[in-house]
Amino acid sequence: MDFEYSQKTKDLMERVSAFMDAHVYPNEHVFEQQVAEGDRWQPTRIVEEVKQKAKEAGLWNLFLPESELGAGLTNLEYAPLCEIMGRVAWAPEVFNCSAPDTGNMEVLARYGTEEQKKQWLVPLLAGEIRSCFAMTEPEVASSDATNIESSIRREGDEYVINGRKWWSSGANDPRCKVFIFMGKTDPNNPNRHAQQSMIIVPRDVKGVTILRHLPVFGYDDAPHGHGEVLFENVRVPVSNMLLGEGRGFEIAQGRLGPGRIHHCMRLIGLAERAFEKMCQRAKARTAFGRPIALHGVTAERIAEARIMIDQCRFLVLNAADKMDRYGNKVAAKEIAMIKVAAPNMACKVIDWAIQVHGGGGVSNDFGLAYAYAGARTLRLADGPDEVHRNAIAKMELKRIQ
Ligand SMILES: Cc1cc2nc3c(=O)[nH]c(=O)nc-3n(C[C@H](O)[C@H](O)[C@H](O)COP(=O)(O)OP(=O)(O)OC[C@H]3O[C@@H](n4cnc5c(N)ncnc54)[C@H](O)[C@@H]3O)c2cc1C
Repeated sequence: MDFEYSQKTKDLMERVSAFMDAHVYPNEHVFEQQVAEGDRWQPTRIVEEVKQKAKEAGLWNLFLPESELGAGLTNLEYAPLCEIMGRVAWAPEVFNCSAPDTGNMEVLARYGTEEQKKQWLVPLLAGEIRSCFAMTEPEVASSDATNIESSIRREGDEYVINGRKWWSSGANDPRCKVFIFMGKTDPNNPNRHAQQSMIIVPRDVKGVTILRHLPVFGYDDAPHGHGEVLFENVRVPVSNMLLGEGRGFEIAQGRLGPGRIHHCMRLIGLAERAFEKMCQRAKARTAFGRPIALHGVTAERIAEARIMIDQCRFLVLNAADKMDRYGNKVAAKEIAMIKVAAPNMACKVIDWAIQVHGGGGVSNDFGLAYAYAGARTLRLADGPDEVHRNAIAKMELKRIQ
């Protein structure tokens, strides 16, 4: 494998970095101020303004490989760009590259009918609306998606949907206009992987109620947020079914691969930023007669953090390369590996950065506490560590006879 980024990637990295310098970093406090004032669940003006600038600069929809609808980049080309965006929590959105929309757009691009694409994919690609992925349920262990209990029952030309979901990220955002909903169309099918389907549910249809938002370690992630949502006798036309009844797992496989690796790419950016803050603080503060950086334990952690971040970056690039060359299914092990490695690495690096900052580290002054909260959720979201480790072990045990 050639570890050198292509000239095309280097040019884009330079452009995305310059854009972050000009429009994102200087507005981090503006974003915080705008969320804090008035209704927290309204989109901020700053994100809408910067989004427009990114669109005009052609830094838009950089994800979406193998589709003429995106920017035409491979996963490998996208990886370092996504990493740069991951340095600020709201930055991916300004490039129309944020979760869960990228995963949902990939689903619609890959599996949607022409009509579904026209109605939902086109405005999502234009950044006019946002979307939500509703799979996890409070009542069942949703890391095993065969447990999902929500029902999707056909009645004539409609499906009737009932269920309660939680951790539906983005549901609270008023721009969220569409859910991709997972539920059972055939609960008695002896093949548990053929019971589930995915269906499009418009946000404003009768019977959809946002019950509450769920905070993460006390952070509400406004205006995006994570909702608990009730679907009560929701009726949608049969044409809203994605791919076909019983094919929910097939779609999940297609969706979760790219979604997972994007999280990992962003986590590397998040860890890099915490690492920079750790080094700057360690050099700037003196304790017991010398800069904190010159206390052996800090130097040791700085070195270890550098090693861990670079290891993860290589794992991400390897997984991305494999996805590009052989497809998401063949790259399943590499995706699972990085999905375990990246959040654990980011949690450790951010934790060390917090430690170097002393009490300041757990305040809101340095963004480290929020960064830790975000990284920690990714040891759960899109599948807990244990589930991915089990999958990796299974593949290895099958391979080695
Ligand atoms: C911030 C955040 C955002 C999220 N966004 C979304 C979203 O947009 N849409 C959505 O549908 N969901 C979302 N989720 C939900 C997330 O995907 C689930 O929380 C996750 O899949 C785990 O499911 P669960 O919470 O039901 O845990 P459970 O399935 O109850 O698992 C609990 C624990 O059991 C252990 N465990 C489970 N299986 C195994 C195993 N095989 N071996 C060993 N131990 C095991 C693990 O330690 C696991 O953490 C989000 C979650 C968070 C925290």
